[in-house]
Amino acid sequence: MIVLKFGGTSVANAKNIKLAIQIIENKVKNNKLVVVVSALSGVTDLLLKTSNEAALKDESYKTTLEEIKQKHVETISNLISIKNQKALFETIEAEIEHLKTLFDGCYLLGELSPRTSDAIVSCGEILSSKIISIAIKEKIEETIFKDSRELLKTNSNFGKATINYSATYSLISNYFNSSKEKIVLLPGFIASDEKGNTTTLGRGGSDFTAAILANGCKATSLEIWTDVNGMFTANPKLVNQAKPIESISYQEAMELSHFGAKVLYPPTIQPVLSANIPIWIKNTFDAEANGTLVSNNPETNGNPVKGISHIEDIALLTLEGSGMIGVAGSSKRLFEVLSKENVNVVFITQASSEHSICIGILNNDAEKAKNAIDETFELEIAQHKINSCMVEKDLCIVALVGENMKNHQGLSGKMFSTLGKNNVNIRAIAQGASERNISVVINKNDVKKALNTLHERFFEDNTKQINLFVMGVGNVGEKFMDQIHTQKKFLKENLKINVRVIAISNSRKMHFNEDGIALKDWKELINKGENANLLEFIHKAKQLNLRNSVFVDITANDVVASIYDQFLKENIAVVTCNKIACSSKYDNYKNLKKLSRKYNAPFLFETNVGAGLPIIDTLKHLVASGDKVNKIQAVLSGSLNFIFNNFSETYSFHDVVKEAGVQGFTEPDPKIDLSGIDVARKILILIRESGYQMEIEDIENKSFLPAECMNTTENTSFFDSLIKNASHFDNLLKEANEKNSRLKFVATFENGKASVGLEFIPQESPFYNLEGKDNIVQFYTDRYVDQPLLIKGAGAGAAVTASGIFADVVRIGNI
Ligand code: ADP
Ligand code: ASP
Ligand code: MG
Repeated sequence: MIVLKFGGTSVANAKNIKLAIQIIENKVKNNKLVVVVSALSGVTDLLLKTSNEAALKDESYKTTLEEIKQKHVETISNLISIKNQKALFETIEAEIEHLKTLFDGCYLLGELSPRTSDAIVSCGEILSSKIISIAIKEKIEETIFKDSRELLKTNSNFGKATINYSATYSLISNYFNSSKEKIVLLPGFIASDEKGNTTTLGRGGSDFTAAILANGCKATSLEIWTDVNGMFTANPKLVNQAKPIESISYQEAMELSHFGAKVLYPPTIQPVLSANIPIWIKNTFDAEANGTLVSNNPETNGNPVKGISHIEDIALLTLEGSGMIGVAGSSKRLFEVLSKENVNVVFITQASSEHSICIGILNNDAEKAKNAIDETFELEIAQHKINSCMVEKDLCIVALVGENMKNHQGLSGKMFSTLGKNNVNIRAIAQGASERNISVVINKNDVKKALNTLHERFFEDNTKQINLFVMGVGNVGEKFMDQIHTQKKFLKENLKINVRVIAISNSRKMHFNEDGIALKDWKELINKGENANLLEFIHKAKQLNLRNSVFVDITANDVVASIYDQFLKENIAVVTCNKIACSSKYDNYKNLKKLSRKYNAPFLFETNVGAGLPIIDTLKHLVASGDKVNKIQAVLSGSLNFIFNNFSETYSFHDVVKEAGVQGFTEPDPKIDLSGIDVARKILILIRESGYQMEIEDIENKSFLPAECMNTTENTSFFDSLIKNASHFDNLLKEANEKNSRLKFVATFENGKASVGLEFIPQESPFYNLEGKDNIVQFYTDRYVDQPLLIKGAGAGAAVTASGIFADVVRIGNI
């Protein structure tokens, strides 16, 4: 005999019920079957809603009842052959009439007792089982309907009654010993008390019905057919990467379900465990998939952690005070009063000082529990020996579960550090003595992030997901997006970094996708996106609260540069090619670095100097390893280098600057490059990264631009001024040729002083042969005294800048 249970979604409508019947047809070829069904999906909720409406004297209960009726009528019309429909419609009509009488009663009395509620809510399973039994009978004649209330006996604790096992098991075995049919179909969830009143087994209780029947009829296995491929390593609705667990022990399954894995109602395990009946959790919509086997001897895959589960809507109650220390019976009184009030305690911790006890309960019970506790400890509170009970709501419990965790060291350390790195604040910790479970209480807002990071840490082969929020998808930004698109697979396979772009924005539009933007379509998506709004962008990035979030600034905008602190404070890393923040006031630069350390959020800006060249990273390593930078000499402007390398008697200064702009080597405002400001910013950043304090005003800027050019306010007049002052530039070139030298815009830092300016570079200088848009930096340090450490290469251009930004993102992935 096999017991099969089909849950709400598996019997949601005619189409799904047909799939369930196919499964039954396959199984019945070789076995006698007991089939347990839930109410059609959503019906239990609707029945509860309707009862509450009626009890609150809200007439809408009538329309909701009509909605319930229509759901069933529609299912019959699409499922049952015409010849059997009439009789079934009559049965359903009678049930609906019965329901109406109950609702009318609630409406008239303005009251809903637990007993009436059970009578009402049981109708969901009665309706579904009556319909499904006829549907099966049409295919397999030897099918019989049996009302579970005749077999399952409980006490009268309506809403969640307790099974009287001895009475129940003897009724079940007597019944099955004499039943001849191949299939017995029963409604789940419902039972009856000694007086014959209908009771229910608690929400999700159909699983439990099936387990009790499995034990009572000595079934060889219990199959729970649901809408997912088994019990997953975490709730698949919250963790996309969660995978079905192939094999798990009863205890582990019980622990996971107790801590929120809704796929199995926790009490289900007990009856099958005692009879050693294996449970299969299978997917009605993917019957071929393996599913999960719950048994006594699970196969191990070497991972001590089997799954991660969570319970939402938890409140933490803390009772503390010197009056608890060494006073026997405080805990007893506390738990006694909670039990009297029917408050389920999910979580307990007690400090070894006995100074405080902390318990986790459901949010809904918080007020009731607090009042009862305060009343119990009234005297001690009045005498200031104990503080009145403290309540914190809207928390959540996350638990790691695994039988083998006890044999592995450092798992809790890994758990806490993973959460800590992601700025998830842990409010309380508990570890069962069995060490099958390590639980933490965290804020509800952090639950998705916590589950996903923990899942990544314990199940995903250490693949790290990086979530990017990209601001600025112009010239460089476009290249950056292309590079991610091309490299995504490589990074995942080789570096175990899964880069996802969650948001993109330019100055006009923005687009978000929590599951990652399809990179091949990003242009289309942003064009169709919502209007760009920086505040909204920040708000959404914070609200999504994704792990390893990175804000990527690919603008040259000062407003964008001023918001980094808001990200860093939320543990969102910042990667930027925008130089404004790091060359702003020293205090601001320092503050950003401080926030980055404090909130564990990397702040990387390699592309601020020399585009993709590893200049800042090298400098960081020099300083970190104890070296001291004494002098820097550099050509740091790829654009100026391009301009002076190409400027000649036959190629005018104006035309070269224009061309540099076209090729994307200058800032959008070329004056920033030509005035020397850009180079001053870069050397300032290098100086600061070398450990010196300096402001931009401290850098001497020996500008080569005539005043007229400097005084222009927009691009057109700037370019006009370059034509008007052509002779000034031509003279510079002439002088260079006469001196047998070349023009280079050089930045220098020496003896605590810095300057930038155009210089005539003689042939013997390493700067003389600097080609194209190359940059060169020479660091003279305590270790590199005579021969400086030299970094040279292309220092401007969209592709190299994009790759520098990309390298920073990868650095974060490797941290
Ligand atoms: P049924 O109606 O078939 O009884 P439930 O809705 O009670 O189904 O349980 C199945 C649901 O449990 C899944 O759709 C999934 O959203 C949720 N769930 C939560 N945690 C887990 C988990 N660890 N593994 C599988 N499912 C889970
Ligand atoms: N129909 C009941 C509920 O929704 C029982 C079940 O589906 O297991 O809680
Ligand atoms: Mg269920």
